[in-house]
Amino acid sequence: MSDAAARAADRPDREPLAPGLYLVPTPIGNLRDITLRALDVLEHCDAIACEDTREAQKLLNHFGLRTPTVSHHLHNERERAEDLVRRVQAGERIAVVSDAGMPGIADPGEIAVSLAIAAGVPVHALPGANAAVTALVASGFTGERFSYRGFLPSKGGERRSALEAVRAEMEAVAGAPTQIFYETPHRIVEALADVVAVFGPGHGVVLARELTKLHEEFLRGTAAEVLAMLEARERVRGEMVLLLNGSVTPLDSAEQESLAAAIRRAMRDEGVDEMTAVKRIARERGLSKSEAYREWQRTRGR
Ligand code: SAM
Repeated sequence: MSDAAARAADRPDREPLAPGLYLVPTPIGNLRDITLRALDVLEHCDAIACEDTREAQKLLNHFGLRTPTVSHHLHNERERAEDLVRRVQAGERIAVVSDAGMPGIADPGEIAVSLAIAAGVPVHALPGANAAVTALVASGFTGERFSYRGFLPSKGGERRSALEAVRAEMEAVAGAPTQIFYETPHRIVEALADVVAVFGPGHGVVLARELTKLHEEFLRGTAAEVLAMLEARERVRGEMVLLLNGSVTPLDSAEQESLAAAIRRAMRDEGVDEMTAVKRIARERGLSKSEAYREWQRTRGR
């Protein structure tokens, strides 16, 4: 008996699937994190809208499912979402999945949901795997209040500005939320260096890597400690979530002095030229010369 047939025999009392748009989370690593309900919906819907049909096919093959798939990704999201909603209006059951985790969270899904709501067709979200919440609950930081921020900008200057805005928001409230970011292995070292610069080396961070997978790990410590752990590795790999403790401590005066102010002070007090000052302050703060120069260009007028 196939997996799908065995499940059907287990559940003779199952209600038929009603027409609607179904948001179906899929595992973020461990295939056993699919839910029984997700399998029911994927089996009995009329079509599955997938971010990458080949990725989805691996999952469907694993569970012995033969439901037709259609592509639904960043580049055709609106047009395809309109089509999906028309199909639901005609009485079909359409599932939306992404490559991993919850559709609509750093993945396509949001447009289909808003069009479905506007068209007055039912939208059902199934609970299930999500990297941000999985990382949060094991981080040791509060889960009472959290702010999910998605990916930080990839460019250094924009990332710094984004982190400065996050810090300002956190300082404006008592009991600020835990901050959650998605990151990539090739940017995490730079992003953590920016966290050190903006929040101070002592700020509490957690890096949750490869959740639910064989090499799952949580790196916990101050921003400077976790940065040092990564720098000590030959290569940083895997999928990761970066979390920042919600409680912001004031930076001491050395940390508070902006990079631009420190460069200006070195030029004024020591009579050195701009590049000598940039190089020295970069060395003192553990930044690369080009990174410090970019930051100097960005903030010198402030
Ligand atoms: N929709 C997904 C969700 O619900 O979590 C997120 C998709 S987003 C395109 C991919 C990012 O999620 C990765 O770059 C990483 O930051 C995070 N992520 C996904 N799977 C992960 C895992 N197993 N461990 C840690 N982070 C993960």
